[in-house]
Amino acid sequence: MIRQLDSLPEGLLKLNADQLYKKIDNHTLVHLEGKIKRPVFISILQHGDEHTGWDALRDYLNNHKQGLHRSISILFGNVQAARHNVRSLDNQPDFNRSWPNTFFKQEYPVAKTMQEITEIMKELNPFASVDIHNNSGRNPHYSGINVLNKDFINLASLFSDTMIYFTSPYGIQSGAFAPFCPSVTVECGLSGASDGTEQTHTFLELLMEQTNLSDVPGILEHQKVYKIIATVKVKPEIDISYKQHDHAFMLTKDLDVLNFHEINSGEVFGQLCSKLEEQECMPFIVTDENGNDVTDTYFEVRLNKIVSKTKFIPSMITQKISAIRQDCLCYIMQRINLDKYI
Ligand SMILES: [Zn+2]
Repeated sequence: MIRQLDSLPEGLLKLNADQLYKKIDNHTLVHLEGKIKRPVFISILQHGDEHTGWDALRDYLNNHKQGLHRSISILFGNVQAARHNVRSLDNQPDFNRSWPNTFFKQEYPVAKTMQEITEIMKELNPFASVDIHNNSGRNPHYSGINVLNKDFINLASLFSDTMIYFTSPYGIQSGAFAPFCPSVTVECGLSGASDGTEQTHTFLELLMEQTNLSDVPGILEHQKVYKIIATVKVKPEIDISYKQHDHAFMLTKDLDVLNFHEINSGEVFGQLCSKLEEQECMPFIVTDENGNDVTDTYFEVRLNKIVSKTKFIPSMITQKISAIRQDCLCYIMQRINLDKYI
């Protein structure tokens, strides 16, 4: 059973993300009523070390203590992981891979919870759905959408001119809500950075004022839209590091400066130790949207270096080894033209 509340627990707006566990449980849905009844759904803290969603929402709610313009349904994600400032606890699946999807049914408890939340929200016919995240590398703040139509693009544009269209991974929140309302994932840069919090707060203010997402004047002119075409993972058995000491594969220092820049062939992603060099070992596995292995299209071993083999635009390269292990090293994108979608 999902715990649902119709007001915030007393004193919650004074707490930081790592203190929320004192007053609220994982997966609590709070429905706050505003003048316009059709709610905006806001999901925060699906990853416990990504605090900007709570920081910005708290600012928004503190700003509107006299009354909300529109109803809001808030999903508190992983407040237990937030307590320890980690993405998830050791025994937990990734919450944002556990939502219903059209490709396979997941039966574990968190997936059933997400299924139930999706059903509850679908009944409420949300005006829009927003899932707020941070990433650990240097990226522009951008929004992610799973459907290319005007409502989704307009919603994403309220946050940023830079957006990514993606269809995998499966089991993410914005994908689960996309069949019944415009939905977006916003990536607000480094957790806790004030520019990301301000941008997200501004986005929430703008969004709550909208009456119709298919018509947001003047917004469709400057977007850069990218499509994710492949995911780069490091093989789990390969020992990796960014630091210069004895590891099997050393990633290039400051690799995340490449995010959202078009790189040419020959860009060095890292260096193999002598043992792996002898084996001409490729430490990456690159898969396309359908899960096919496309490593050979994008990377090659040149002497002891791993280099790009073609032009592409990487995103979400992170310098955090734990994030590489739990998620991926980066995504490979191409720029797309919006004209045929709007
Ligand atoms: Zn996240």
